Amino acid sequence: MAFRDISKEALIGTATLGVVFITGYLFGKWKPFRMNFSKSHGSGQNNPLMQYILRHSMREHPALAKLRLRTLEHNGNAMMVSCEQSQFMANLVRLIKSKKALEIGVYTGYNTLSVALALPDDGVVVACDVSEEYANVGKPFWQEAGVEKKIDLRIQPALDTLEELLAAGEAETFDFAFIDADKVNYDSYFEKSLQLIRKGGIIAIDNVLWGGRVLQPAADDHDTLAIDRLNKKLHRDARISLSMLTVGDGLTLAIKL
Ligand code: CA
Repeated sequence: MAFRDISKEALIGTATLGVVFITGYLFGKWKPFRMNFSKSHGSGQNNPLMQYILRHSMREHPALAKLRLRTLEHNGNAMMVSCEQSQFMANLVRLIKSKKALEIGVYTGYNTLSVALALPDDGVVVACDVSEEYANVGKPFWQEAGVEKKIDLRIQPALDTLEELLAAGEAETFDFAFIDADKVNYDSYFEKSLQLIRKGGIIAIDNVLWGGRVLQPAADDHDTLAIDRLNKKLHRDARISLSMLTVGDGLTLAIKL
């Protein structure tokens, strides 16, 4: 790829990472194989190959980098999607030329911002969460990146928002959905998303391995049981084509047929 083909945002992101790297290296606070571009995932920090992947692929927008670091100060930061997974999903959004996206589970809005940056100027991401407090962490960074007008934040139970979208006649108008909220409702989120997504659209479902617990769900572990049930159902589901990726904590891609 010619250098001129790389977007301005990507160049800025790459340049920023370079400055961070050199600065950190000079001051001895960052070591080449210990740089944690990823979020809080400890496995990434201690995995030289993972660090190589991150150093050679991440093109994080400066506002995304700041929001990630701000989120890492937060107690619940395990809920944030990892940066490399988020970049991958943003590329899917671009690949299928998405204009309308759904996000079910926003937290501090790192992935919301990543998707919004990947959408065209007239694109929109309907972002569903029950916590305005967490979303407020992300809002200044959405504004800094100049994409806040593309983010339609709905603070109420996501199923209510999905029902409202269907009632407003928006079935089959969305291109991309990301499901990353409470696990017991995963099946309902999937079914509503499938109605809202157009043919050829993608539903990405996070945490489908749930730390490996899907191998042996305990009888009273309702989160794991719900994820495992959905995994089994999707494997047989003729309405979609399917991939289950080992990205992050497991990411299923369901493409509507
Ligand atoms: Ca997640």
